[in-house]
Amino acid sequence: MMSTGLQLRVQKHANHINEGLKKLVLSNIPPPPALGNYRWTSDLIRATYFQALTGEIPPETLNYKTGASNGGFDMLHFDFQEHIDQSSIDIRSFDLGIDLNRRGNGSKIKISQPTYGGGMSFGSISLNFMVARAKAAQMLNTFTCTGEGGYPEELLPYKDHVITQVATGLFGVKEETIQHARIVEFKYAQGAKPGLGGHLLADKVTAQVAKMRDSVAFSSLFSPSPFHSVYSVEDHKKHVDWIKITNPSALVSVKVSTPKDVEMVAIGSYYAGANIIHIDGAYGGTGAAPEIAKKNIAMPIEYAIPKVHKYLVQEGVRDEITLIASGGIRTAYDVAKAIALGADGAVIGTAENIAIGCTHCGNCERGRGCQIGIATSDPELSQYRPVDWSANRIVNLYRAWNKQYAQILAGLGLKKISELRGRTDLLYYGGGN
Ligand code: SF4
Repeated sequence: MMSTGLQLRVQKHANHINEGLKKLVLSNIPPPPALGNYRWTSDLIRATYFQALTGEIPPETLNYKTGASNGGFDMLHFDFQEHIDQSSIDIRSFDLGIDLNRRGNGSKIKISQPTYGGGMSFGSISLNFMVARAKAAQMLNTFTCTGEGGYPEELLPYKDHVITQVATGLFGVKEETIQHARIVEFKYAQGAKPGLGGHLLADKVTAQVAKMRDSVAFSSLFSPSPFHSVYSVEDHKKHVDWIKITNPSALVSVKVSTPKDVEMVAIGSYYAGANIIHIDGAYGGTGAAPEIAKKNIAMPIEYAIPKVHKYLVQEGVRDEITLIASGGIRTAYDVAKAIALGADGAVIGTAENIAIGCTHCGNCERGRGCQIGIATSDPELSQYRPVDWSANRIVNLYRAWNKQYAQILAGLGLKKISELRGRTDLLYYGGGN
């Protein structure tokens, strides 16, 4: 428990940060030069703050659609056929939801937007942020994911909107946490660091984090790269069977990175019984991913999506599995482009951090490196992002995104986000917005 004096100090600091963010977004003050990079430009960061603050689409003076990488999503644009009077768009007349189980059997789960939150573990982020993400997921009828560090009991009120992750280190994996979940995600790899397992450095492993992970406080925790029980895609069937016995109604998602033969992994996962294949490209991850791996090993997601989509179509199973993409998907426009390339939907990580004030500084791996209390297990810093405040910001961000999906669909003459899937004919490659 924090003392009253400390609580007041923390609250004052939190208010100060929040006022600063508000000024940065709503005024014409030029952003600090260090804010952002060529993928997450300062405009994209400020536009995300704006959306999280207001729930509205940013003004055109901020580029909220593309970064400045000169490649990938930043060079893909929609070939809008229709001029739309934006004020005439009624978001309720568009179906933005996606089915997470497309097989003929098992639970039917439809989320109300084409995204859900990616795994961020207890210890890597604060408990407040974890709970806020779950609360926002419940408010939006979508999901968030525990990541690999166990399932804090504070998430239980939101359990119908929380995916339990089983990763290679099996940290915090328990039978009851699998039974809580409507979806269980096996994380075989992540795009920011394929060939490496998760790692949580010693100064973030507080006593509370260590207890959750059945580990020792202030010792670094490294997950192995592969599951020691899985040496081929066929072995994955054992995992699916385990979940079907432990929680027969749960859907199974398989999260993999994007190696050259990613389509083989996808088809193997389908035949093993997975409901969701989640491919994670090279540009995801937080500042905790090692520099040597980040952006250097996995395939960019823009290449991987059509490769997997076309192969599943060719094999005749595309409509029986949900294809989810992640790894560098920053904006509503990126999500829509990922769908046009062949995904059903997307998983979002960094944008949720930015919604609650992340500056993209890259200090995530250090115990007290995240001065604004997002990527931290420090009890004092964690208080800087209160649960309700953070949940509302995440909800606002996605409400603004939903408005943009409706605009995009209207401009393309479509009514459902699912109709956009695989419509590469609606995209063109080049400069501009
Ligand atoms: S503000 Fe926090 S979460 Fe964002 S990059 Fe910096 S350390 Fe990581």
